[in-house]
Amino acid sequence: TRKVQNVAELEIDDKNGLVNPVFDERTCFSRFQSNLYRKISPQKPSPYLISKLRSYEDLHKYCGPHTESYNRTLKRLDSKNITSTNCKYIVWIPANGLGNRIISIASSFLYALLTNRVLLINHGTDMDDLFCEPFPNTSWLLPKDFPLKNQFASSKLRYAHSLGSLLKSSATINNSKELKSPSFLYLNLGHGDYDLDQAFYCNQTQQALQKIPWLFLLSDQYFAPSFFLDPPFKQEASKLFPEKETVFNHLGNYLFNPSNQAWGLITRFYQAYLAKADEKIGLQIRVFNVNATPFERVMDQILSCTMQEKLLPEVDTKKESLPSPSKNPILKAILITSLYPEFYENISNMYWTRPTVNGEVIEVYQPSHEEYQHFGDNMHNMKAWAEIYLLSLSDVLVISSWSTFGYVAQGLGGAKAWILSKPGHRNPPCQRAISMEPCFHFPPRYNCSSKNKIDSGDLAPYLRHCEDRRGGIKLV
Ligand code: GDP
Repeated sequence: TRKVQNVAELEIDDKNGLVNPVFDERTCFSRFQSNLYRKISPQKPSPYLISKLRSYEDLHKYCGPHTESYNRTLKRLDSKNITSTNCKYIVWIPANGLGNRIISIASSFLYALLTNRVLLINHGTDMDDLFCEPFPNTSWLLPKDFPLKNQFASSKLRYAHSLGSLLKSSATINNSKELKSPSFLYLNLGHGDYDLDQAFYCNQTQQALQKIPWLFLLSDQYFAPSFFLDPPFKQEASKLFPEKETVFNHLGNYLFNPSNQAWGLITRFYQAYLAKADEKIGLQIRVFNVNATPFERVMDQILSCTMQEKLLPEVDTKKESLPSPSKNPILKAILITSLYPEFYENISNMYWTRPTVNGEVIEVYQPSHEEYQHFGDNMHNMKAWAEIYLLSLSDVLVISSWSTFGYVAQGLGGAKAWILSKPGHRNPPCQRAISMEPCFHFPPRYNCSSKNKIDSGDLAPYLRHCEDRRGGIKLV
């Protein structure tokens, strides 16, 4: 690991070579300071990944917004005849909450690395200033004056120019599988609109996509595992990531550095409440259907999990329990993240009104309780991002099933969490993750040539069904 000296003369770390030392650390303190809060990951990125990132950075600088090459490729946007361009782009379009967005950006970036495309992010003001620019001397933000920007959400653009309709029309017009190449194409890879655009995952489609300068991609999924399934990417993806479980950990820590504003929220909270604890336990409590899920049931489950796995100490329920005699008791901090205040109230009350059986002192904190998911609200997303990052600094992490918010915390932290079972499934109340990767909830379901149904979880030894969704797959 190379060390870099920052303004404050602190010894700072370049994340095992992931960070390009040309960055000025003042523009993004978190990029160089995360190791002050998190142990350096034992999983080193491969030298091949590092060199690929450096050449990607050069490509991005060459093709980035408002460069000559960008302007030239932009002119092709309304041309009918495609001539080859030096720069090709993948424009990412947001869907759903922050966790979904982060895992889908990471997957899109892996796709960009594998196809020598440049990743541009199109987001609204609700995602402003959450992350630092990840690539030096350029920007990954799609310029505000991009011609089709206002139409990304329109169903005309989404479906009339989608991969699925292109496949359909070329099949009927030419009666052949050969695709004509438009100048841009929309890829609908969200969990809801799957069927036709699923062909994205097929080798033959990828060959056709190579010629198209502009791809617009909308997805809320962690589709990175699909590149490890079949040619054309399997070999290159495995060379970049010999340890497949580290894909999100490395790409996530490379791409998603909290902006100085977000870093302020993270470090102030950490220093005020978590820094002095001997152990930090993160509890991410996501309740998807509040009406159908009584909080007591969720609470029961959290306690059965944390007691059974000995993650938290039991409390002494005897009537006359004595105060703990120890002068220097072990101090454990529980960081709760949830949209609701009830779990915090319940747990902090439990540890306030009763002593722990082993004398440990438990403090309980929850940074916010936003009540519901706010759409289009920048500060709401800023808090969500700060909380995801704080969770990722925990020594022990418990996350909710199905929640991408928890997946991101686990993946950035680089350790296997305990995943709570769905509320009501008491046996077991939680299980240890088989890998720290996020789950790809809706993987490809059909074989590209035979069109028969497949089970992606059976296709390679390094792909398994997710703990919290049998139909999903994850890299292990
Ligand atoms: P998922 O729906 O659990 O997969 O996670 P997402 O992050 O994609 O979407 C949930 C959104 O709800 C988050 O991005 C936040 O906006 C909000 N949210 C859910 N749980 C929390 C929480 O514990 N803290 C905060 N601050 N926001 C949350």
